[in-house]
Amino acid sequence: MVVVMQERATDEQIQSVIAQLVGMGFDVHRSTGSLRTVIGAVGPTTGDPRLVEMLDGVKEVLRITEPYKLASRTFRPENTVITIGDVRIGGDEVIVMAGPCSAESEEQVEASAAAVRRAGAKILRGGAYKPRSSPYSFQGLGEDGLRLLRGAADRHNLKLVSEVMDISQLETILRYADILQVGARNMQNFTLLRELGRTRKPVLLKRGISATIEEWLLSAEYILAGGNADVMLCERGIRTFESYTRNTLDISAIPVVQKLSHLPVLVDPSHGTGRRDKVAPMARAAVAAGADGLLIEVHCDPDHALSDGAQSLFPSQFDRLMAELRIIAPAIGRSICLEPVARRGWGT
Ligand code: PEP
Ligand code: MN
Repeated sequence: MVVVMQERATDEQIQSVIAQLVGMGFDVHRSTGSLRTVIGAVGPTTGDPRLVEMLDGVKEVLRITEPYKLASRTFRPENTVITIGDVRIGGDEVIVMAGPCSAESEEQVEASAAAVRRAGAKILRGGAYKPRSSPYSFQGLGEDGLRLLRGAADRHNLKLVSEVMDISQLETILRYADILQVGARNMQNFTLLRELGRTRKPVLLKRGISATIEEWLLSAEYILAGGNADVMLCERGIRTFESYTRNTLDISAIPVVQKLSHLPVLVDPSHGTGRRDKVAPMARAAVAAGADGLLIEVHCDPDHALSDGAQSLFPSQFDRLMAELRIIAPAIGRSICLEPVARRGWGT
C-alpha cells in the first residue's frame, strides 16, 4: 500500500506511520516529493489499511494494484531524476551516453571518448565484460578495459556506464563505473538484481530480449526493493519474427513505461536495430517519443571493431545525429547538450 501524508505532516507523524507499518510486517520505503511525503509499504503481508488511515497526518492510503510497487507511479507520482555529479537523468535534458561496444585498446578508447565528448555526449559507454552469444567471440578486456574507460572518461569530463554480468565482477566495476549496466540477457538474473539493490550506484537496466514491460518493471522492483532508488530503464529492442533488423525496437515502450512508472527511460537504437544506417532514424524517433536519454555505440574505426562494428556509428555520423537531436528535443520541450563541446572550449 501507499500512504500519502498531508502536506504539513510533521516528521513525528511520519515516524509513527512508519512504526505502525513496520509493526504490521511491511518493508517501508519513504519518498519525499516537492509537496508531500509518500510512504510505500511492501511485503508479503496485507494489513488492514484502516489501521494506518486513522493516524495523524495521513491524507490517504492507496492500494497499489500493479504487481510492481516501488517502480509504479502510484508510489511516486513525480519523475525520478538520477543525479551523477552535474549530470541529471530523467530531468528536462535528454542525456546521451555513447562510446564503443567494448573497450579494445588505449588508442581506441581514447579516440572514441574524445569524439563522443566533442559531439555532446555526457556519459561514456563501453563494455569490459561482454555477454557474447558465442564463447569464441571477444569477451572483453576485464579490469584492464575498465581502467582504460575510466581514464578516458576522466580526461574528457564524462561519466562512465559499463556492464556487470555477474556478482563476482561487481566489486571491481564499482571501483570504476558511475552507472552499472545490466544487459538484456541478465534482466532476470534475480540474484544479481538483488545484489545491485544493496549498492548505491545508479543501475541501467536493459529490457530482456523477450521480456514484457511488466516483467521489466518487476526486475527494476528487485533493485528498488533492496533500497537502491536510482534505476533507469533502457529499451534495446526485443526479439520478434522480423529478420531485417537485429531486434525490433519498441518505441511504444517509452510512453507505456512513462505512464506506469516514474523511472527514467532510455533507448539503445544500436542493439535495437543492429545496423548503423538504422541507428540515427531510431534515435531521432526515440527523442521525439520522449525518451530521457540514448545509449549509442560509436567507434573511432567501426570496420575493425572487435564487437558490434556493424551497428557502431562513425564519429562524423554521431556528430550529425547530435545536431539533428538538438532540433528535435526542443520541439517537445526538452533540451540536449546545446552546442558541440569543442565550441565551448571544454574539450579538444
Ligand atoms: C551492450 O550494450 O553492448 C550490450 C551487450 O547490450 P544488450 O545487453 O542490450 O545486448
Ligand atoms: Mn554492443
